Amino acid sequence: MKSISQLEEEISYLQNELKFYRNVTSTERSKYHSDIVEYPNYSMKQGYWECDLITKAVFLSPEWYEMLGYKEGDFPADEQSWFNLMHPEDRAIFPKNVNEFLNESKKYLPPDVRIKHKKGHYLFVVPIGLQIIKDINNNPVRISGSHLDITSKKNGELFERKYNEILRMIAQGVPASKIYNEIATIYEGRHEGIRCSMLELDGNILRHGCAPSLPKEYSEQVDGLVNGPNVGSCGASSYTGKRVVVENIETDPKWENLKQVALPYGMRSCWSEPIKSSEGEILGAFGMYRDYPCVPTEFESLDLTAAARLTSIVMERDRNQKKIKMLAYYDELTGLSSRAHLFINIKKLIKVSKRYHERFSLLYIDLDNFKNVNDTLGHDVGDYLLQKIALRIIDISRDADCISRLGGDEFCILVKERGDSDSASIVAQRTIDVVSKQIELSGRKFNPSCSVGIARYPNDGTSLESLLKAADIALYTAKDIGKGSFAFYNDELSRVAEYHFRVEQYLREAIEKKQLKLVYQPQIDIASGEISGVEALSRWEHPELGHVSPIEFIAVAERIGMIKPLTEWVIHDACVQGVKWRKAGFPDLKVCVNISPSHLCDADFITFLKSELASTGMYSHCLELEITESVVQTNHKDFSIFESLKELGVLLAIDDFGTGYSSFASLKYLKVDYIKIDKYFINDLLTDNKTKLLVGSMIEMGHNLGYKVIAEGVEIQEQFNELKRLGSDISQGYLFSRPVNPEQVSVLLSNNSEALNSVT
Ligand code: C2E
Ligand code: CA
Ligand code: CA
Repeated sequence: MKSISQLEEEISYLQNELKFYRNVTSTERSKYHSDIVEYPNYSMKQGYWECDLITKAVFLSPEWYEMLGYKEGDFPADEQSWFNLMHPEDRAIFPKNVNEFLNESKKYLPPDVRIKHKKGHYLFVVPIGLQIIKDINNNPVRISGSHLDITSKKNGELFERKYNEILRMIAQGVPASKIYNEIATIYEGRHEGIRCSMLELDGNILRHGCAPSLPKEYSEQVDGLVNGPNVGSCGASSYTGKRVVVENIETDPKWENLKQVALPYGMRSCWSEPIKSSEGEILGAFGMYRDYPCVPTEFESLDLTAAARLTSIVMERDRNQKKIKMLAYYDELTGLSSRAHLFINIKKLIKVSKRYHERFSLLYIDLDNFKNVNDTLGHDVGDYLLQKIALRIIDISRDADCISRLGGDEFCILVKERGDSDSASIVAQRTIDVVSKQIELSGRKFNPSCSVGIARYPNDGTSLESLLKAADIALYTAKDIGKGSFAFYNDELSRVAEYHFRVEQYLREAIEKKQLKLVYQPQIDIASGEISGVEALSRWEHPELGHVSPIEFIAVAERIGMIKPLTEWVIHDACVQGVKWRKAGFPDLKVCVNISPSHLCDADFITFLKSELASTGMYSHCLELEITESVVQTNHKDFSIFESLKELGVLLAIDDFGTGYSSFASLKYLKVDYIKIDKYFINDLLTDNKTKLLVGSMIEMGHNLGYKVIAEGVEIQEQFNELKRLGSDISQGYLFSRPVNPEQVSVLLSNNSEALNSVT
């Protein structure tokens, strides 16, 4: 877009140009002398006249007649007939002025009057060389003088005023169509009989820009034509980028296909100048028409260039503005409204709804798992999916007030409530249904789904900000309910969301500043009763939020992309602590850490582990990684990383065993050392016979496959006894110890024999 200073520069350029044309009109009159007959506006003729104040007879010289296009005898040579040629406005005040002049109460006659030319237009004339002849009583009896034609000077002044007005309009950003009209009008005013037109080029299509004096029918015919070398003068000019002068429309081949719409309206010649942007791009063409075959005079030719140049500034600015508006108001990928446009629409809707006590809803739509598509199939496929989804949403919500894409995979629909029906939930359900239709992406069948959060005006908010916040919170709830759900906003939600938000906000900082702590929960070897290992568990006490459960903050860390630094910190701290315990005399103690699924897709993870083991001095066979069963099941392609981990010598455990959609079969591919039976089974171990059978089978199967079995969540002695009977190897739970700090673990380790006594 042009900056203000560029615009100012252009305006000053135009002002100079104006000066140049002004000079042309005054100094080059003689040069254009040949035009005088055809273009009376530019003559500087004069003619003598005399009036007998007694008889009212008038004498007019042949030059006077010629100047005004008359011949002697065209009108009676008397004062009244002569007077009747005057412009009505001037005629109304003229007699009084003359009388005052004759009785010498005024020194001058008015500087100029308008007299009608035979062709119908008026010339500005000034009286010069006035003489009054008086009788012996000193009464005026005769007056004489000359009329000098100053029309060209007057028109020049008028042109200048209007031209400046156009510059002002450009500077003030008046809509282009209005300025086009003014441009046509001033050039038509300057060149009598000429009609102007402006055509805009839209790709290769000609668009009617402005032609105030051409018949509407003609403009309509031209609008929408495909541009080419034979589409009239303007088409040819905007096609070639050169001036095209057609002297005779009737015979010129460029008009062959168009003349039938031009000739009936008296258009006989047409000269056209291309309208070009500052970079030389062709924007359209400026045309001048006459109703007889001719070519432009030099003066007309200069004005044609000037008019096209002036129009180009308006056209270019208009194009830039449209482009900017398009970019700001519409999403390029989907063609839906942009975020900025949506916000403006919401504000408008709030105003209207307030005035008329109306209600509307804001639907926040978020695609589920979109990130996966982008990550696994690439951004092009992701973009394609977004475009398809946009079309589907448009399809079901045609009567919505605004559909927009907020960015990423988020969309928004504004829905006015009509009657008693709950339009918002209807549209939300329709959206979910249409979005979840199967789609083929890169040859694979894919089932998209989305979640929708709904905020209502005025119940959930009366400002743009409060409505957006409410819709966002509602969206969170919808996601919590599960894929393909919608949810309304309520206050309780807002408190929960606020808490989530703050957790998110503070967690980042806590991880960066290492404000988390590790506690360790001992694992007891059931046969010997000794502590064989400890599980490192993260703890976060925030001064404002208090104790935040790891179940919550681990999930948040995953969502905000902070799980990697968190895990790296856990591994480092656990290794440092493990080495301390080894040096304190517990050489075989295993330290277990929980690994988030995402690490298994990260090739750098192995490198990181290697360097951690080396720098801390931790033995790899003392470090155990706990991986949840669900990951083991779903990420088949990641089996290679298990190989690498094994090569490194670290131990692997499958956490929460039995809770995922486990297929025992996949275990055969994995080289792990432990399976960890989930607390869920241990809880019912004593009360439910089926559970007991299940736990027994898990232990047996684990052993058959060569794994050791850990039971977690062991809270009472009877559970421990039963697990021992079933053959479990290791026990972890409150029965022996809650997760405690490292110093307390050291105490427990030193008292290992006591531990043995207390639980066996
Ligand atoms: P998990 O890996 O299944 O950890 C065991 C959880 O059970 C721990 O909860 C532990 O305190 C609890 N627990 C142990 N024994 C008993 C018992 O006898 N009864 C009962 N009721 N609970 C028992 P915690 O510490 O709240 O951790 C919850 C989950 O958070 C963990 O489940 C783990 O998935 C995750 N987590 C904790 N720390 C980390 C970490 O550093 N990294 C990762 N990735 N996840 C972690
Ligand atoms: Ca665990
Ligand atoms: Ca577990």
